[in-house]
Amino acid sequence: MSTFRFHGGRHCLNFIATLSRRRTERIERLVTPADLGHWFTEAGLASAAPAAGEPELRRAHSLREAMYELFTACMREREVPPEALAAVNGWAARPAPAERLEIGPDGRLSRIRDDATAETLLAEIARDAVDLLGGPLAGRVRECGFHPCTLLFLDTSRSGHRRWCSMDGCGARAKMAAYRARRAARPEE
Ligand SMILES: [Zn+2]
Repeated sequence: MSTFRFHGGRHCLNFIATLSRRRTERIERLVTPADLGHWFTEAGLASAAPAAGEPELRRAHSLREAMYELFTACMREREVPPEALAAVNGWAARPAPAERLEIGPDGRLSRIRDDATAETLLAEIARDAVDLLGGPLAGRVRECGFHPCTLLFLDTSRSGHRRWCSMDGCGARAKMAAYRARRAARPEE
């Protein structure tokens, strides 16, 4: 079973979500280079896990943290950290995987990505962050409201008041915690 979280609504946010509970125990889900390869396939970005070694893993972590810094600066209306900006821009300027359509035996078209390497896929994720941060949806990126989680998600709800990264995960836990708090606050009968 996958331990990755895909509640963010965008590849860049789901990639940032490979490190969760950032202000407490910090749960790292990209521990080995193989984890990185699995993330790409589970995210639907590659049909087979691309080769990745320790250097790719280190680059993936540093791109992830640079994107996280940009999103948190945007959400908290803080000054944009220049090193993070340069890192994300540097990745976004690199070539992303080339794509083409191929006609299968059943006559249907399928999408083929020939050069989906760890490097080109990281470039694609950086470009997704550029698109999101530089577009009209930037103000819709939120942090999960359930205390330890810290995952970021794109709020696509009509009201714009989505509070949790997932309703059945953090949403359910937050509601249970609120119920327990109310019950504890009630005087003994
Ligand atoms: Zn959450």
